[in-house]
Amino acid sequence: MSDAAAPPRFAVDRMLGRLARWLRILGHDVAYGPHLGGRGLVACARREGRLLLTRDTRLVRDPELPPHVFIHSDHFREQLREVAAAVPLRRSTPLCRCLDCNRPLIDVSRDEARDRVPEYVAATQERFLGCTGCGRLYWGATHRTHMLDELATLGLAPEARPSA
Ligand SMILES: [Zn+2]
Repeated sequence: MSDAAAPPRFAVDRMLGRLARWLRILGHDVAYGPHLGGRGLVACARREGRLLLTRDTRLVRDPELPPHVFIHSDHFREQLREVAAAVPLRRSTPLCRCLDCNRPLIDVSRDEARDRVPEYVAATQERFLGCTGCGRLYWGATHRTHMLDELATLGLAPEARPSA
């Protein structure tokens, strides 16, 4: 097996969009997109050494399929639990990755953000994160609190530090 300390990286079937998003919220490196289904998905998982997540029953009949988790549930909460049962999910650094393009986010100063966000946002928000890929800006304590609440509901609340 690969290095147990490295958080798993995923290649997620295009039919599992909500699951892909929540894995990114947790901070995982997730390959996901409209082109990633069937053989394209398998090729991506193999080429990039990613754990394949799929609900495609045709795919899992392939005896040569790279390491994968077959997802049974229709519901993203249950799907996340299925993934968590198979591999340790990342708990230490949620909300550090762009939900659109998967790149890591970096701190953006309020001055830098000012021109790129509505005035009331610049006036009321303290902290901004920017995507190094698509340039999307993230802010907003409310949104963040909502996502952290959801993670707590799922039993995936962030830990102060990674467990030993
Ligand atoms: Zn982005």
